[in-house]
Amino acid sequence: MGRGLFAKTNFKAGDIVLVEKPSLIGPHFANQFIFCSYCLAVAWTGIPCETCHDNIFCSLKCKKMAWQEYHHIDCSITPYLILCDPIIPVLIHTNLKFIISLKKDYKTIDELRSKLKISKNDQVEIVNDRSEPKIDLFNKLMGLCCDVPVQQNLLLIVFTVKALICMAKYTSFFSEKDMQYNDFIKNEDFLFIGSFLLRLVKIGSVNYHTISDTFEGNSFKHHDPSDERFRGICMGLISTMTNHSCTPSIRRCFTDEMKYVFYAMEPIASGTQLLDSYNKYFFESPLIHRRKKNSNFVCHCMACKKDWPLFILPELNDVFLDDLMKPKKYSKELFSIMEITPLKEKIFNDIYSIDKKLIQTVTGMMNEIVDVLPQPSIARCMLFQMLIKIFDKFYGFIPPFENLCSSKKNFHRTGVL
Ligand SMILES: [Zn+2]
Ligand SMILES: [Zn+2]
Ligand SMILES: [Zn+2]
Repeated sequence: MGRGLFAKTNFKAGDIVLVEKPSLIGPHFANQFIFCSYCLAVAWTGIPCETCHDNIFCSLKCKKMAWQEYHHIDCSITPYLILCDPIIPVLIHTNLKFIISLKKDYKTIDELRSKLKISKNDQVEIVNDRSEPKIDLFNKLMGLCCDVPVQQNLLLIVFTVKALICMAKYTSFFSEKDMQYNDFIKNEDFLFIGSFLLRLVKIGSVNYHTISDTFEGNSFKHHDPSDERFRGICMGLISTMTNHSCTPSIRRCFTDEMKYVFYAMEPIASGTQLLDSYNKYFFESPLIHRRKKNSNFVCHCMACKKDWPLFILPELNDVFLDDLMKPKKYSKELFSIMEITPLKEKIFNDIYSIDKKLIQTVTGMMNEIVDVLPQPSIARCMLFQMLIKIFDKFYGFIPPFENLCSSKKNFHRTGVL
């Protein structure tokens, strides 16, 4: 992949490795009536946009900020895009926000174009390299990977063109009014913004992270989309540099302020690459499913190379314990499982509250076990789950309600988010 994040110091299990405020953030539109479309907080008494009804806000302040920054343009097109395909606004909206706010700063597309140059093969270059926050962000964004498979690329082009046509027909974004279909190809502003948007959409499809509420009860079983309630998508310039492993060393969650928090799952030695999992871990999902999910790249982690066995925890314990009793070589594994199981059950039945003592106990167990039990180890995977349960709660936001009231739509069609 040619990029990656590396530890500059040693970390113990549970240590915070990175905290980052996303550079781009936006709603997911699977649950646009539950979360504020500006700040992604729960909109307990949501205030809808009077015009589009597809964006609600947690406060008048968020509503006003959204309108000033971008919603005066996207308000007219989001309903059409949702009607076309609900995945389109998920892929387009956050990128469009960025372009709308850039154009707002430079007043006209001409002025914006004078700062940025886009060549025929979608490559955007900075002409004027003055240091300005948004131009700096733009510069960094353009350096991110945007390689998408051919089929997905075609879909992204179609979605981008649909959004552009809606912008030209239903908003005041382009100065030329009443553009007809034949005019689009000749209009420099249309081609410039289209090229810019497509590039961002491609970058986004590779680099965005999904922010979702995962329900604890089912979070460790096979993937069930109903376990997750999508809140939004975001991209952090540092966070996006993390590479994937099905047996990762770090895990990401989001705070109430929607900041990334990455914490260590196991001890990490200085100089080691920090690896996050983009999808399910090796013990939760069979290799064939993981490969399908990771269709954009080939995973070279040890779990994939050696096809480590699937441990569906906690159902596995009863099945495996008898087997583990027999061969002596498994005695360490068995001893660890027996030691861990009572604590795990208490944690998962919410008998323990998360306090310093519990954190020290579980992280201490993890820090010791890695030297004794190499992966694939059931005991290590059990500790992995316990750490996730504790630290997601400790560092991340807590889902505000358990009942699912979101609409179930097919948001996995493109397989990009
Ligand atoms: Zn808000
Ligand atoms: Zn609106
Ligand atoms: Zn893998």
